[in-house]
Amino acid sequence: MGDLLLVIDEGTTSTRAMLFEPGGKCIGTQAEELTQHYPGPGLVEHDAAEIWAKTSTCAAAMVEKAGGPERIAAIGITNQRETIVFWDKTTGEPLAPAIVWQDRRTAAMCRAWRDAGEEPAIQARTGLLLDPYFSGTKIAWAMQNWPQLAEAGDRLAIGTIESWLVWKLTANGRKGGLHVTDATNASRTLLMGLGSGGWNDSLIDMFGAPREALGEIVDCAGRFGTTTLFGGEIPICGMAGDQQAATIGQACFAKGETKATYGTGAFILANAGTTPPSSKNRLLATVLWQLNGRRTYAIEGAVFVAGSLIQWLRDSVGLIGTAPETEALARSVPDNGGVYLVPALSGLGAPWWEPEARGALTGLSFASTRAHIVRAALEAMTHQSHDLKTAFAADGADWARLRVDGGMVTNDWIAQDLADILGIPVDRPDFAETTALGAAMLAGVGCGLFGGLEGAAGMRGAGKVFEPEIEAAARHARLDGWNAAVHHVVR
Ligand code: ADP
Repeated sequence: MGDLLLVIDEGTTSTRAMLFEPGGKCIGTQAEELTQHYPGPGLVEHDAAEIWAKTSTCAAAMVEKAGGPERIAAIGITNQRETIVFWDKTTGEPLAPAIVWQDRRTAAMCRAWRDAGEEPAIQARTGLLLDPYFSGTKIAWAMQNWPQLAEAGDRLAIGTIESWLVWKLTANGRKGGLHVTDATNASRTLLMGLGSGGWNDSLIDMFGAPREALGEIVDCAGRFGTTTLFGGEIPICGMAGDQQAATIGQACFAKGETKATYGTGAFILANAGTTPPSSKNRLLATVLWQLNGRRTYAIEGAVFVAGSLIQWLRDSVGLIGTAPETEALARSVPDNGGVYLVPALSGLGAPWWEPEARGALTGLSFASTRAHIVRAALEAMTHQSHDLKTAFAADGADWARLRVDGGMVTNDWIAQDLADILGIPVDRPDFAETTALGAAMLAGVGCGLFGGLEGAAGMRGAGKVFEPEIEAAARHARLDGWNAAVHHVVR
């Protein structure tokens, strides 16, 4: 058996396969774009058959690159979370479109449940909130609106993306593969009890999910099954949702260790240890990983507008030509000149929770230039992170150091500003693909290449640490300025 790790990284806009050496070096990548279907306002769907076809093409290319299936020790899978697939167990074909995490079709259902006072009990059981984001609400809608699902009866299978991919990988030409889901993905459905790690009957009833259509909840590492689709046997040994995989890829293995991914939006997860956390600040509690039946949990928070603000400045406002040029512009002025940008373009998240809030640009004068506005936009990322840090701290999960990744923090100025305003070291690995790396680590643990996650930590490799440098008075002035600006948009 070889020692290479094949990662399937099934994202929202593309699906990829990547090949890793056990030391962490990535030696191959193959990607395919996915078609986004927008059948109406707020509706986002994927074709699960397309996802499988493109994933298997990418994986086959990486098996060839490896020199054959015998060179590969294990497959690790990571995926867009919450997106839900409905398929026929006898044909292995989708019965309906996959409803994507971004889809808002269940907003009215969620509002009705919240108005009925259901949310506190749901949060206590699942760690989640009653929001269209989560799969359970999408299953409820699908069972009510797509009659072919109920008509399928015992043939119906429901699962998140990793569950669908394992089914297809293990079908091995016969009808009917393995129906499993890992605990991180299951913890995003609203159907799993966070403490028990099992499907919860009353939640299953509430969301109308047929019990026999759900797969078995399993660990994130282990020998789940074997695929023979690529010319020989390869075991599937690792699985986790994308943000959990990135947290593992950032080696946040001890309680309190925290990572932030700054892409289109920003996702921050702090390792919360082995007792299910409960947030009083509308942060999420979720499974970070499950190994040998034991769960480690995370607290999760999101910034809705991160890199998308830079895209908006480029594409809608025309203030910049490219995202990277923001770095030189920010450095070209000594400070923000009193200009603050509150990027509440789609409401404000933690700790403000004002979905109706809209953005503001404050403190303008004749001395303000394009550079000040761009700098204010970058600073907004830092300010929002600071607000989240405050919410995490109030939930007993303050950050002592932040491990960062994602497109925005390739910008050194932002990484330094985060260190300055958060007042903690900001640690950026040289190899930015932490999501895929986390799946590789889990696969390595699952197939026995590593004795445990600690043994896989070396895969993360070297990085750069940004230390806080700013004076305390300047830092306080920035935070005061931001708070004043936020109060222009929240009452
Ligand atoms: P996603 O995975 O969400 O597609 P990425 O991690 O690829 O996102 O990051 C892309 C985002 O980062 C874009 O929104 C882009 O505007 C922003 N971005 C990329 N490079 C820079 C940069 N040098 N400075 C600031 N923002 C950047």
